[in-house]
Amino acid sequence: MSITNEVKTEQPSSVELKAKIEKVALADKNLLLDIKNLKVHFNIASKSAWPWSKPSKLKAVDGVNARLYEGETLGVVGESGCGKSTFARAIIGLVEATEGEVMWLGQDLTRMQAVQKREKRKEIQMIFQDPLASLNPRMTVGDIIAEPLVTFYPKLSKAEVKAKVKAMMDKVGLLPNVINRYPHEFSGGQCQRIGIARALILNPKMIICDEPVSALDVSIQAQVVNLLKELQRELGLSLVFIAHDLSVVKHISDRVLVMYLGNAVELGEADALFANPKHPYTKALMSAVPIPDPKKERAKVIQMLEGDLPSPINPPSGCVFRTRCPIATAQCAEQKPQIKGTDVHAVSCLLVD
Ligand code: SF4
Repeated sequence: MSITNEVKTEQPSSVELKAKIEKVALADKNLLLDIKNLKVHFNIASKSAWPWSKPSKLKAVDGVNARLYEGETLGVVGESGCGKSTFARAIIGLVEATEGEVMWLGQDLTRMQAVQKREKRKEIQMIFQDPLASLNPRMTVGDIIAEPLVTFYPKLSKAEVKAKVKAMMDKVGLLPNVINRYPHEFSGGQCQRIGIARALILNPKMIICDEPVSALDVSIQAQVVNLLKELQRELGLSLVFIAHDLSVVKHISDRVLVMYLGNAVELGEADALFANPKHPYTKALMSAVPIPDPKKERAKVIQMLEGDLPSPINPPSGCVFRTRCPIATAQCAEQKPQIKGTDVHAVSCLLVD
């Protein structure tokens, strides 16, 4: 009897191969922002008549992970009240993180001393939702744009500051001869350009855009989004772009984070996520995005979500989406899904891989 020693060479499965290719592709990129298990909980005073009753916890952000690479845009999407703005504010330190890490170029912003944090503010700037309300009505456009420059570089001469402000106004499409006007003399789109100029004057690495186009007309929205894209290309900026409109997010993002009731329900590269949305909530959001082809638009079935967003003070047990999920099972009430998948595409659902 002859015995043959067969040496089997193990071939990697297609899933392993795909994960390897993804790993190599991501290794080439420079990781700027790495958010790990970020939580922002607020204590809400109890309405009970008893003085010893405990305050309630409002879980505005409840364990979100996300990454942003250099020169890319992370789109954050979800309906009003899902925690997008609190998430953005926690990154820049406008609200305090209860737990988790915000790693900025390898350093945790949540554990930095005030002096260090102030230095980092030069690198991270923010644009706000209401362009007019975010500008000081008593200051001229020139003074508004110059303010961060004067604060961080007090030794600059007036002439130098003015020259830099005029150059920045030109870059964002504002005529430099309006430098002495006041915010109320401008339209919403122009006010947002002033906000962008102010955010850019320190030459930051990243800008957090908190619903920058929600308050604008549709035609002006496109102008502002295109301006941000142009500036990003020219200056190598990274953006965190928050919106409740998925079509705007699709247009500008390289990576997308879908949030629901303070939780990340789906996350990944924009192409992978839009080509194959996995979470029922993302599918519902995407079904509402208009399709430019009238035939396809008429044939489209919009997946309506039943009910309202539950209160973050008293979220549902198990999966937070279960009260509105069309495929929920009894298990969804008992077990909280964890986000699973790769950096390219990950989802938080018990029934979807
Ligand atoms: S875990 Fe259950 S309730 Fe949550 S999204 Fe998945 S199927 Fe729906």
